[in-house]
Amino acid sequence: MNPLHLLIDGQLVAGDLDMDVINPATEALLCKSPRASKRQLDAAIAAAKKAFPGWRATPMASRAALLEQVAQRLETNVDELARLLTQEQGKPLADARGEVLGSALYFRHFSKAELPVRVIEHSDSRHVEAHRLPLGVVAAIVPWNFPLILMAFKLPAALVAGNTVVLKPAATTPLTTLRFGELVADLFPPGVLNIITDANDLGAAITAHPDVRKVSFTGSTETGKRVMAGAADTLKRLTLELGGNDAAIVLDDVDVKAVAGRVFKAGFANSGQVCIAIKRLYVQDGVYDAVCDELARLANEVVVGDGLAPDTQYGPLQNKAQYEKVKGFIEDARHSGNIIAGGSTQAGPGYFIRPTVVRDITEGSRLVDEEQFGPILPVIRFTDPDDAVARANNSPYGLGSSIWSSNPQRAYRLAEMMDAGTVWVNKHRELAPGIPFGGCKFSGVGTELGERGLEEFTQLKVINIAA
Ligand code: NAD
Repeated sequence: MNPLHLLIDGQLVAGDLDMDVINPATEALLCKSPRASKRQLDAAIAAAKKAFPGWRATPMASRAALLEQVAQRLETNVDELARLLTQEQGKPLADARGEVLGSALYFRHFSKAELPVRVIEHSDSRHVEAHRLPLGVVAAIVPWNFPLILMAFKLPAALVAGNTVVLKPAATTPLTTLRFGELVADLFPPGVLNIITDANDLGAAITAHPDVRKVSFTGSTETGKRVMAGAADTLKRLTLELGGNDAAIVLDDVDVKAVAGRVFKAGFANSGQVCIAIKRLYVQDGVYDAVCDELARLANEVVVGDGLAPDTQYGPLQNKAQYEKVKGFIEDARHSGNIIAGGSTQAGPGYFIRPTVVRDITEGSRLVDEEQFGPILPVIRFTDPDDAVARANNSPYGLGSSIWSSNPQRAYRLAEMMDAGTVWVNKHRELAPGIPFGGCKFSGVGTELGERGLEEFTQLKVINIAA
């Protein structure tokens, strides 16, 4: 593999430092990645600051047109990017392709975005307009579960609104983002898009930097709190997309086989390393045993392996720390519930854990109360749907959730009662660039995507003119 580069001030440069990137399917060294020094971070922020006036003055239509070109570069290079993504992240190649092509869709969506001046009042006494101005330098910080698509939740909206960006992927998944930077570097004026990497050591410097006007952060709730504290001194705008413990509530009127199949995918996709994976499954008495049996059957059937192998459906955990954490959840579940599928690692190298289904478990156990972020799903029994909603809501998190029922009125009534940023009905985990996404409680602050997400990359300015 050719050495990859950071992108600073329009230049592809070597890192002052480097770091190892491990393939989680083999535990072997995949390659060395460039790693930015504090000096290079400062240079990236300075370049973004310098580029801001010119980029802000560029007509929005011209900025938008560049996003379409980014989308095309992603599509043209899907094979290379997907392979790299699988090798560093672990996900099956088909899913990696989906992530690359999905990212292109997000860029394309925002290539059609507009920020029109809105007339708030036009009367005998005054004319009042609302304008949306860019903020300045935006820092985009991304975790390791979906390096590209979560980048694509931020970059297109930030750039089309006229901000300049410093993008930082996670320490264990820097490569696809760096390669993306190389592929689009020539499209943007120098300094508009900068990409640096770190070994989890530059986040605090980014959030405290006086020249960064906004941090758009996706990651864990604990780090999100540090970002908020770090940003306080310089009063940065923040969007925080944080952890979740999504509850799905399955009523006893469902088609068990069909629903269990869809619930399984929503719980175990990306080996459970999804912010909006189903992480607590509440199932009503009448279908509890049947749903558990079907989930166990599916878990025993699936192929877990290296994402590059053609028949692999589920890859490894992305990194050793997460692998150890999920093993801890399994050990705990041995005492707090009954493991009816999985519960084992795989012989040989690689951070593999088979999809694990735990029944006869309830609140008060780690697996139900905490975010597992891995392939282990607790199935919790309930009798009264209103009680299930109350139990689901009794969590510090509120990212996604879902209600599953063949009766639309019944499902809608419960959906109205759920405390979450998104409640899906008879599906889970569906996102789209035009639909706003965000969490409540400890799952986040603010919104990404949709018009609302775009506006979060702007400052509202009112012009108020006497009649
Ligand atoms: P993490 O919080 O450890 O890291 C996320 C990013 O923050 C990385 O790029 C990391 O280098 C950086 N970082 C570390 N310390 C920092 C600091 N002090 N200041 C600023 N940045 C810092 O999260 P993770 O383990 O990589 O990701 C998993 C978590 O992300 C899970 O909790 C998951 O639910 C959450 N997540 C949320 C969403 C969402 O949209 N709500 C999406 C995906 C993942």
